Amino acid sequence: MDKTIGIFGGGQLGRMMAQAALPLNIQCTFFEASTDCPSATLGQVISSKAENGLQDFIDSADVFSLEFENTPLADVDVLVKNKDLHPPRQALAIAQHRLSEKALFDTLDIPVAPYKAVTALEGLQAAVAELGLPIVLKTSRGGYDGKGQFVLRSADQIEQAWAELGPAGELIAESFVTFSREVSIIAVRGQNGDVKTWPLAENHHHNGILSHSIVPAPNSADLQPVAQDYITRLLNHLNYVGVLTLELFVTDKGLYANEMAPRVHNSGHWSIEGAVCSQFENHIRAVAGLPLGSTEVIRPSVLVNIIGQHPKSADVLALEGAHLHLYNKSEREGRKIGHITLMPTDSTQLTTLCRQLAKILPNPLALSEDMTI
Ligand code: AMP
Repeated sequence: MDKTIGIFGGGQLGRMMAQAALPLNIQCTFFEASTDCPSATLGQVISSKAENGLQDFIDSADVFSLEFENTPLADVDVLVKNKDLHPPRQALAIAQHRLSEKALFDTLDIPVAPYKAVTALEGLQAAVAELGLPIVLKTSRGGYDGKGQFVLRSADQIEQAWAELGPAGELIAESFVTFSREVSIIAVRGQNGDVKTWPLAENHHHNGILSHSIVPAPNSADLQPVAQDYITRLLNHLNYVGVLTLELFVTDKGLYANEMAPRVHNSGHWSIEGAVCSQFENHIRAVAGLPLGSTEVIRPSVLVNIIGQHPKSADVLALEGAHLHLYNKSEREGRKIGHITLMPTDSTQLTTLCRQLAKILPNPLALSEDMTI
């Protein structure tokens, strides 16, 4: 092996990074609480619970990255004394704190919904008075997949919202954005400052969890250069190396940034088959200091998450052009345990595939039949 990359986290994102790394003679190691994690079959897992775990992990690799956005900064601080981490610590710290993230978007002139920091009940009352209703109240730290959020629609919910989220520490109150669609843009920056961007993904959620993404997002020709400009500002400002994701709302006033993820992203899994170079391979290339690959689309794709329960693999693979990725995770309600990439030739074939998938998937609830590509 030419190089070893140590990855904070050992979930499916780490697993797919390691799969992309192997053909380049790059080995991955992982730092994860459970050694029985999705990445375990791809490389050594060093338990974050072991007494000398962190030091053993630091000794296990040449250069480091992450797949878990809540990687403890205290661990990162020990690591960066001796070894390089990509993306940079600052990007991770900002992404872990919604208020800092919004402040950075402001600094870079990336539009966001009006917001206020909230640290007390009176502050929430003031935010409601200033921003108006509805408001989305979020914990500044630790929320994911819609957790740690309260949508305030009337003033009589203020005390309830404060009682639910107040104990979680600093909060952010955001104006509710009336959006027509949610999209994400994924880009990669190399060690020489090269930036490459994949097309916007249109993302559909069910119960707060990503259900499927269509790439390129339909009717996004005008939005693509704007989103590309926003993410490039972030990458350059942060002197970022690796893959970064920016989630955006499409509104009638243009794109509003919601949040960024300093890592490869679920809405980019289609790129394994659908792009010349996937988000995983380009992330590994960037972290290893190698030239980046083309992000060009080979075929428009639809990513469908497998949530909670496994379909029969043979049923999925019998579908024309479908690719199946299982994460070696046990079934649990609401858990992402795999994904399918569909690569239809046109919208008619996509409709047929969606109908077929609806019969196969235990959880096809949000998969609409009238998608276009
Ligand atoms: P987040 O954890 O910030 O990604 O939020 C989870 C989901 O809540 C988003 O995907 C949106 O569907 C919704 N959401 C978050 N913030 C807002 C907002 N300010 N206005 C409307 N919907 C929002």
